[in-house]
Amino acid sequence: MEIIKAHEMGFCFGVRRAVEMMEEAAEKLGGITSLGSTVHNRQVVERLREAGVDVVTSLEEIDGRPVAVTAHGVGPQVSSALEEIGVTVVDTTCPIVTRSQQWARHLAREGFAVIVFGDPDHKEVRGVLGWAEGKGIAVPDEELLHTLPEDLPSRVAVLSQTTHTEARFASFVRRLFETRMDHISELRVINTLCNATTSQQAAAQELARRVDLMIVIGGHDSANTRHLAEVCEEEGVETHHIESASEIEPGWVAGHERVGVTAGASTPDFAVDEVVERLRELERQLSASGRSK
Ligand code: SF4
Repeated sequence: MEIIKAHEMGFCFGVRRAVEMMEEAAEKLGGITSLGSTVHNRQVVERLREAGVDVVTSLEEIDGRPVAVTAHGVGPQVSSALEEIGVTVVDTTCPIVTRSQQWARHLAREGFAVIVFGDPDHKEVRGVLGWAEGKGIAVPDEELLHTLPEDLPSRVAVLSQTTHTEARFASFVRRLFETRMDHISELRVINTLCNATTSQQAAAQELARRVDLMIVIGGHDSANTRHLAEVCEEEGVETHHIESASEIEPGWVAGHERVGVTAGASTPDFAVDEVVERLRELERQLSASGRSK
């Protein structure tokens, strides 16, 4: 069985930068708290905790220690609340997310309704909506475009959650225009997709075409990992989304000649190595029992 790793996968520069900034701050300041998990990966969160980065889930839990804003960013309301509390803030917002936030504010001030193609409960999207100064609406799926209010301003701007695929964003925009053409006088589309994500998705897609099984590693809550798995499934290949090597079931690999491995932007290298090792171990077991091809 051949195991092939995607040529681009794992920690993106935004997550790597956030993790390093938090580790440095924890060491320098004698421990910090992170407002929410830095990454959707329990192993990374545990390693950070050992390095002095505790996680709090709400502003009420802040205990005076410096607070890190995660790579997903926050809305201006949260920044103001942190200022009022008076804690030191370590802002690790990914620069690509900051760009989305700036666009949201700029377009809202220009009088556009700001539609964000994304999950309204996702941290990044909540933050971006905060910057849209009350003029932002998140729509998670093109099938839900009919839920947009009838009295939407006629000048409409569209941004995307950074981790969506190019194809889904393009389809969303097309559908928006088709369904609201009679209402829209001006449509501005800002490509706020993240290059790191799109190139990982392209690499996963290319690999999915060459293998007969894909393993996608990343937190079950991680949007970009879910999208990577979707990209692979769309190629018609058997795909399993796992968080760690322990979730691999022995039956998955039997009868497969080529297994592809990719990982979401919040997946550390050691988690990928563990998965590859587990696949090799299963292959050895299958060979020993004579069930391997
Ligand atoms: S996926 Fe892209 S936008 Fe998100 S943290 Fe990584 S580099 Fe930044």
